[in-house]
Amino acid sequence: MAQRYQLFINNEWVDPLSGQWFDSLDPFSGEAWAQIPRANKDDVERAVEAAAAAMQGPWGKMSATDRGLLLHKLGQLIEQHAETLTLAESRDNGKLKSEVGGQVRYMAKYFYYYGGLADKVQGAVIPMDKPKVFNYTKYEPVGVVATITPWNSSLLLTAWKVAPALAAGNTVVAKPSEHTSVSLFELARLFVEAGFPPGVFNVLTGFGHEVGEPLVTHPKVPRIAFTGGDEGGRKVNVLGAQHFKRVSLELGGKSPHIIFDDADLARAANGVITGIFSAGGQTCMAGSRLLLQESIHDEFVERLVAIASKAKLGDPTRSDVQVGPVATRPQFEKIMDYIGIAKNEGARCVFGGNARTGEGFGCGQFVEPTIFVDVDNGMRIAQEEVFGPVLSIIRFKDEEDAIRIANDIRFGLAAGVWTRSLHRAMLMSDKIKAGTVWVNNYRSTSFTTPFGGYKDSGMGREGGMEAIKEYLETKSVWIST
Ligand code: NAD
Repeated sequence: MAQRYQLFINNEWVDPLSGQWFDSLDPFSGEAWAQIPRANKDDVERAVEAAAAAMQGPWGKMSATDRGLLLHKLGQLIEQHAETLTLAESRDNGKLKSEVGGQVRYMAKYFYYYGGLADKVQGAVIPMDKPKVFNYTKYEPVGVVATITPWNSSLLLTAWKVAPALAAGNTVVAKPSEHTSVSLFELARLFVEAGFPPGVFNVLTGFGHEVGEPLVTHPKVPRIAFTGGDEGGRKVNVLGAQHFKRVSLELGGKSPHIIFDDADLARAANGVITGIFSAGGQTCMAGSRLLLQESIHDEFVERLVAIASKAKLGDPTRSDVQVGPVATRPQFEKIMDYIGIAKNEGARCVFGGNARTGEGFGCGQFVEPTIFVDVDNGMRIAQEEVFGPVLSIIRFKDEEDAIRIANDIRFGLAAGVWTRSLHRAMLMSDKIKAGTVWVNNYRSTSFTTPFGGYKDSGMGREGGMEAIKEYLETKSVWIST
């Protein structure tokens, strides 16, 4: 029997005012395993009111040091309850239990880091160009923050927003993807256990147009932190702009992963495989465009095929499995469509390319790790985000050629470069238009450093000292002496 959940508003569990629930499907078995409350604009109203009231209550009056201690306590509880959080998220999005487990433990560190930062945000005394006047700046919380997140890493991507937002003294209404709601309910329980006052953290589940849009347009929500796809991001940005909201967007990518002939090819091959096939390629930072220098092309492709052919697909809870199911049926169909598009465009599939069904593959929502060669950067398979385990390989001649191809795309989230030459490493990191450049590694992230996109990959940064400023207003105070 699927467990029926309730909304989390003002530290209470309440039924949705629509009186409706919808099913959350386990992507491996295809079973409806949880019933998710379908919130509507009336629920948005009560959650935002609770969050706004909390700004005036004990939370709003709490010292930054005490806020930081609460965040720290939450981090400890996340570590203690890591297994529960992991199982909920892995069941919802089909990601390997081992992958989600790592993310959950890492997520705790975001709360430690921003908890520590809470009382270290300082204004400045500004030298004046006028006599008898004293001027200083101070930072104040923005207010109620709406976080809107996708299905691929519900907990971690929510933590990227919630930890700095709360450290800065704001309150949050969190809206997870309709496909992956349960893990945020499990997180909400920990907010109560940690002792956060009512209204500081609220969870509304449901659909973009029914919950997301009323949240974005609500007059008491000044700040929206969105991670997701183009279409949703554009809508949120336009709606936000109409109401003069502060919006940050973490959107898609088609990140170039560039391998030079002087690289440590064995390490680079492992980096490329992790870069594209982790989480079945369903990550914004997937290194989905592989740029190979001509002289090493054939040898490197052989290395990739050798590693990819060892990957075991299957039940994401099993420790011997490296590739789990695709998170949703529409996403599975989209990936298979792109494989067909690539073949029609003339790309040559040298590995994978099929769906997997039958015994051990649950409801059959599996796509094999897939490698295409002879890809031209103008093809759709090179330009559009597949969000699946599909690697497109493009040849290049020299640095100039690699830079041209890498930047010839509307996205700019991340890039990888493998070389032993310091000159090449620095040249490429200077010239590539992307928010993150990894040299001789790929997919590294940390709470201590900013992450975000150039171009159509978004605006704003999450992580590091910069992120906390994204949730603060700067006030300039003038005092005549
Ligand atoms: P999505 O845009 O469909 O949904 C994301 C969230 O937005 C969901 O909670 C959804 O309900 C909500 N939403 C949708 N339409 C909305 C609207 N009109 N108003 C308000 N909210 C709305 O994205 P998805 O399919 O869940 O996730 C996949 C996408 O997320 C990919 O494009 C991927 O690249 C991107 N992503 C980006 C990052 C990053 O950090 N840059 C990280 C992970 C995923």
